[in-house]
Amino acid sequence: MNPSKALLPAALAALLAPALSQAASPEQLATPLTTGSVRLDIASGRVEGDACLSNRPADAQGHFVLNAGLNVARVTDDEGKPVGFDGWYDPGVDGEARVYTLAEPTATLCVQYVGAFPLYPKHDAMGDFKGMMAFNGDSARFTEQSAWLPQAFDPKARVRGSESRYDLQVDCRGCRFLYLNGSPAIEGTQGRFRSDNARPILLFGGSGPITHTAQVTLLNESLPTPKVDALSRVVQQVADVHARYMGVPLADRPTFLRMVTLNQAERDRDGSEWGFATWPTIAMSGSIGNVADSLLAGGEQAERRVQYIAHEMGHYYFGTLNRPQGPYYWVLLESSAEFLSIKALRQISGDAAADHYVARLQATVDALDTPLPALDAVDGHSDLGEMYRYVYGPLLLLSLEKQVGEAKMQAFMRGLLAAPSPKDWAELQAIALKASIDAEAWQHWQASCVAGGRPRCRG
Ligand SMILES: [Zn+2]
Repeated sequence: MNPSKALLPAALAALLAPALSQAASPEQLATPLTTGSVRLDIASGRVEGDACLSNRPADAQGHFVLNAGLNVARVTDDEGKPVGFDGWYDPGVDGEARVYTLAEPTATLCVQYVGAFPLYPKHDAMGDFKGMMAFNGDSARFTEQSAWLPQAFDPKARVRGSESRYDLQVDCRGCRFLYLNGSPAIEGTQGRFRSDNARPILLFGGSGPITHTAQVTLLNESLPTPKVDALSRVVQQVADVHARYMGVPLADRPTFLRMVTLNQAERDRDGSEWGFATWPTIAMSGSIGNVADSLLAGGEQAERRVQYIAHEMGHYYFGTLNRPQGPYYWVLLESSAEFLSIKALRQISGDAAADHYVARLQATVDALDTPLPALDAVDGHSDLGEMYRYVYGPLLLLSLEKQVGEAKMQAFMRGLLAAPSPKDWAELQAIALKASIDAEAWQHWQASCVAGGRPRCRG
């Protein structure tokens, strides 16, 4: 828990309801809710689920997805009345998940299912990726991408409802601890997990150690105190900088999860690393000690880790408190987190570090030979790839800051946090005007930096 919570004003307390009270706010009640129970067995790779999903989005009422290795036993409504479904023969597929079609709409969808997955105790699988339901002999790792719980599915947009509030009982034979993304880890073979914030639901059950400080949780690895301290220190610094900039305390703290991947033997041979972040979880193959080592080493190595941690922690604001939607989804989610990470890098590691990082982004965009989609012409069909999200988008935000000044830019970022996602350019501009950016300055930015999707501002 955040030790400063007693000092928060009432309005903020409402925003941070899950950390502060039992009652969920109206915004939270509008998000999907997953309830029920899941049983798994580390030694056999068997998984049994009995989960209900309510509050599904309006355009995802007729379908659900579930990992392709799981078999559906039955589908019912919340009173146990059977609901017909299709998806056995000639099934629809969405990545690692099967798509099921309901015969009739039901407000609450309950699915009973069972499956078993291969074990790789020698960590000698051909590959591993985030969509696997991964059993490595002494742990189980199911991310939200694996669809280990039924998720709503919009077949037109091909979008899964991968975030949900939850109230779930988990039993794991062979686990020493259990962890669900967004909740404290529980030591033991069973536990009940609840979140009033919608989260991507990642499950990790393992047999390794847990280290917990006020700033970080380390799962599945123990590190010597100086390394734990190095991680704690940076997380504290980032939390302070972000909270001051956004005007809202950062109530989550990251959980660093050490994974032994299904193909860890090969990774160890060729020295490669793999990781992903599902805020507030930062998962890495190999050792979390590598991050601490880089931080302790200083220089560019440390700067890269500070920026990375600051980016992920930015997802507390853009991704958790504010859940972006619509045409600017990727910019609101990733470019804003990247922008915050650059602000934090400047504060923590100094101007030279931040300038160097920004120069690298700019050089990457300069090297492109085709213009990117212009932000003022982006619509729901625009393909905003990684270059846009992590490189061009942050540069656009920096160019706006350069033109309107730091104070108005800060107000704009706070405005983006507080507002529902803008659906078009006019709504984005309205947030800017509310942040005291005058129309002339906004139009000047649009004309000189945005229009045409050119790599650099004109003039
Ligand atoms: Zn991100």
